[in-house]
Amino acid sequence: MTVTIIGAGLGGLVLARVLHVHGIEAVVHEAEASPGARAQGGQLDIHDHDGQVALAAAGLTSEFRSLIHEGAEAMRVVDREGTVLLDEPDDGAGRRPEVLRGELRRMLIDSLPAGAIRWGHKVDGARRLPGGGFEVRFAGAPSIRTDLLVGADGAWSRVRPLLTAARPVYSGNTIIDGYLYDVDRRHPEIAGVVGGGALFALAPGACLGAHREPLDVIHSYIQLVRPLEEIEAIDLSARDELAAEFADWSPDLRRLITDVEIPFTARPLHVLPVGIRWDRVPGVTLIGDAAHLMLPAGEGANLAMFDGAELARALVENPGDPEVALARYEAEMFARSAESAREAERAIELVVGESAPHGFVAMFTG
Ligand SMILES: Cc1cc2nc3c(=O)[nH]c(=O)nc-3n(C[C@H](O)[C@H](O)[C@H](O)COP(=O)(O)OP(=O)(O)OC[C@H]3O[C@@H](n4cnc5c(N)ncnc54)[C@H](O)[C@@H]3O)c2cc1C
Repeated sequence: MTVTIIGAGLGGLVLARVLHVHGIEAVVHEAEASPGARAQGGQLDIHDHDGQVALAAAGLTSEFRSLIHEGAEAMRVVDREGTVLLDEPDDGAGRRPEVLRGELRRMLIDSLPAGAIRWGHKVDGARRLPGGGFEVRFAGAPSIRTDLLVGADGAWSRVRPLLTAARPVYSGNTIIDGYLYDVDRRHPEIAGVVGGGALFALAPGACLGAHREPLDVIHSYIQLVRPLEEIEAIDLSARDELAAEFADWSPDLRRLITDVEIPFTARPLHVLPVGIRWDRVPGVTLIGDAAHLMLPAGEGANLAMFDGAELARALVENPGDPEVALARYEAEMFARSAESAREAERAIELVVGESAPHGFVAMFTG
């Protein structure tokens, strides 16, 4: 059995790695031309109940631990005036340690045998063959035929149409992010406001956030609740115009916008329906965002890796009967992703809804 995986994101890579650990061959087809083709950006907190479980199944716990950004689990919540409402240090317990996504992805790529990832293989489409199995078409590379196909190709999956007609829709939320470098020397006031971990500055309808990253970097982001047309009209190079949206916020917080050193990137947040599921189609399934794209409340990458590990486990435990494995995997995945998507909606409502910032603080203080 060879498993064909589309997408070398965290989900697809964990799936390939766990299969490899158990001696099952997997080939990953990735659209990007090389491992370094695109900056991966951003820190991810890896949770002890799913992301860390997946990395343990991949046999990579000690490699993962070596990537942890010590101290970055600290969290501070302020209101728009900058008044500190919650200030939690990193307790060192490792429940949600932070790592750079690029380093985590590189670790997984390096854990696979040479040739297991076919770079520059962008899927154009896939179809079910009349006699069974699938044909997968690539832009600029020969098509392949496979009996076991996994879509790990993210939000705009080209494998998903084999299973469901559902497509992501805009959620009404957009994240606009940018970076500040050499912050202790060049932006000491901002470094002081952010602290050693994550900062959330919250008010109804908007959030200003920041993450302290390794190498003296602050990753700054704005979350806005706006129609897509208004987002598309924003000039992302006009920092002062963006800061004007936060005119009644503290000047120190506004500097998280005005002092960003490279142009902002806007990331409109799309979602699949909460509780999405489909009828079983033999030989094909989805993991991660391809299966259950949801609002980012810190769970998506963890879920993608957990899906990968769980699908691999089901395949390992059902040798010779992939249909039983896929059915078991999907039943459990539908249930956990529906619950996570509902939790993500609740969390985002606390971040930018009418109760912000106090509802968000109450979530932590009980
Ligand atoms: C702004 C933002 C912040 C987030 N913050 C967090 C966070 O803090 N914590 C967290 O856990 N999650 C976070 N998430 C969610 C997280 O990024 C995703 O849930 C996670 O990356 C999903 O992993 P994946 O492997 O399913 O898909 P992806 O990471 O999207 O990987 C898909 C891969 O498939 C490839 N691909 C796509 N199309 C094709 C094709 N046609 N052919 C071949 N290959 C293809 C892509 O190049 C990519 O390598 C955030 C999301 C956003 C938008």
